[in-house]
Parts: sequence; C-alpha cells; structure tokens
Amino acid sequence: MLSQHGDDARLLAGGQSLVPTMTARLARPTVLIDLNRIENAALPTISAGRLRVPPLMRHADFERLSANGPLSTILAELSGHIGHLPIRMRGTFCGALAHADPAAEWCLASVVLGAELLVRSMTRGVRNIEAADFFESMMDTTLADDEMIIEAQIPLLPAATRYGFSEICRRSGDYALASTLVVYQRDEDEMTKVRLGVGGVEATPRRIPEAEAMLERREPTRQLFREVADLVASAVDPVSDLAADADYRRELTRAAVSRALDRSFR
Ligand SMILES: Cc1cc2nc3c(=O)[nH]c(=O)nc-3n(C[C@H](O)[C@H](O)[C@H](O)COP(=O)(O)OP(=O)(O)OC[C@H]3O[C@@H](n4cnc5c(N)ncnc54)[C@H](O)[C@@H]3O)c2cc1C
Repeated sequence: MLSQHGDDARLLAGGQSLVPTMTARLARPTVLIDLNRIENAALPTISAGRLRVPPLMRHADFERLSANGPLSTILAELSGHIGHLPIRMRGTFCGALAHADPAAEWCLASVVLGAELLVRSMTRGVRNIEAADFFESMMDTTLADDEMIIEAQIPLLPAATRYGFSEICRRSGDYALASTLVVYQRDEDEMTKVRLGVGGVEATPRRIPEAEAMLERREPTRQLFREVADLVASAVDPVSDLAADADYRRELTRAAVSRALDRSFR
C-alpha cells in the first residue's frame, strides 16, 4: 500500500505522534495503514550478538526486557523517561525513530549504541542504515515515502559496561530540553570504548567525538568529568525555541553531560 499511495499514505504504529500531528492538521494522509494487525511484530529476538527490535515493540516492553545484561538495563531506564505510561503502552521504538524528534530517548540511544535499521521498500527491497546516518534534520530522516522500518538491531553490551543517562525536562514526561547518554567499558582503572552523545540540543542527536577521545583510556575522576562537560557545552550548536534559547540549552547540556558521567561512576 505504501508503494501504491506514496506520500498520501502513512503507517500507523502506536499513533502517539501521528495522531496528535493529524489532530493539529499538520499531517493529512488520505490512507492510514494500521500495522497493529500484523502478527508477531511485537516480540524482540536476540541473534548474532544483537537485540532485534520489531516494528510493534512498544516503549513499555523495554521495561520488561531482562535477559540480555547491560543493554536491557539501559533501555529499561530510558523507556521510563518517555512520556507517561499510556503513551509507553502504545508508542513503538521504530515509530519514534521514524518520527525523529531530536529529543526522543530512542533516537539518542540508537545513535550512541550504534543501532542499525533495516528498512524495506516493495520495489527496491531492504537496505541497512546506521542510526547515525538515519537522522537528517529535525523530524526528518533518510526514509523514502515507500519505505518501512522493519527492524532495528542494537548490539548487546559486555558485562563490564558502565553507563550514565541524564535528561533535563521542565516537567516529568516532557520531551528533554537536553539529554546525555554515555557508555563505556571499565578496563581496570580506565574507561575504554567510550561512546557519548547528546539529544534534544541540536537538530539531530549525535555523538561528540572530541569528548569520547578525552575520556578514552583515562581514569574516571570528577575533575575529568567536569572538563568533558565544558568541552561538550562548547562543541554543540544548540537550537533555540520557545522552550529554551541556545545559551540556556548550552548550560543544560553542560549539566546533563556532567550528571550522566557522574551516574556512570556509581
Ligand atoms: C503527551 C506525549 C508525550 C510524549 N513524550 C515523549 C517523550 O518524552 N519522548 C519520546 O521519545 N516520545 C514522546 N512522545 C511520543 C511517543 O514516544 C511516540 O510513541 C513516538 O514518537 C512515535 O511512536 P508511535 O509508535 O506512536 O508512532 P506513530 O505515531 O504511529 O507514527 C509516527 C510516525 O512514524 C511513522 N512510522 C511508524 N512506524 C513506522 C515504521 N515501522 N516504519 C516507518 N515509519 C513508521 C508513522 O507513519 C508516522 O509518520 C510523546 C507523545 C505524547 C502524546
């Protein structure tokens, strides 16, 4: 149906972003394709060292993932920050990626954790896209009108993984004004394989390579964490909107990075 109707059609997953968009008349699709009738599209699987997330896996399902070590702990914590329970019961991981809000927890997680998306078109078949290449600008992705995300694959993490997450919102359940996820391996006294990204700050979530380089093979200390938070605050180019201007968002970024790093050290 997508290949037949193109831009006139929309996939309906959890409806938690599409329906408000339609209510505000910002989207007026003539054809709605309800994915919810597809059988077996909600159950995750694990294979080849990856968690494979199907199109109907809901945010709340991540709170019950418990079989795959640090990755499930990280995803469970992040899912608890998405909106409120009724939203988490319906909204889907793949729908959140397609919606591409720069402040969305799953968009940040997919970039920091190195997720890969499998997207399919009836005419051109399946292509794989690294999450870092998927988000083009605010609410905009490389998905073509006739493509559907059929799976997101997230690499599992080793047992020695440490992580810290921080998000700053005006009210509980709101989208983040700034958020940070940092993940690394604790190797003796050093941090290795550091991945640090920010969400809600720029038009797309992204990793900050300068900060990762500064942390790599270093001993974690509060002093180093403060210096990295300063570095990230000066490296980002924050958006300005009604919720927060660019200067304020820069300060929130500094705080979110600092808190996420401190939490990784627990
Ligand atoms: C009050 C409120 C608060 C919220 N707070 C947050 C928050 O704090 N953090 C957060 O991340 N989100 C938040 N959300 C949004 C929520 O997480 C949505 O569930 C999510 O953004 C979209 O997922 P969905 O399954 O509901 O997608 P839908 O609303 O069904 O679809 C969204 C878009 O994605 C497309 N789409 C859906 N599935 C696919 C697919 N498999 N392949 C290709 N395109 C697809 C649809 O066609 C549509 O364009 C909030 C929503 C509300 C109403």
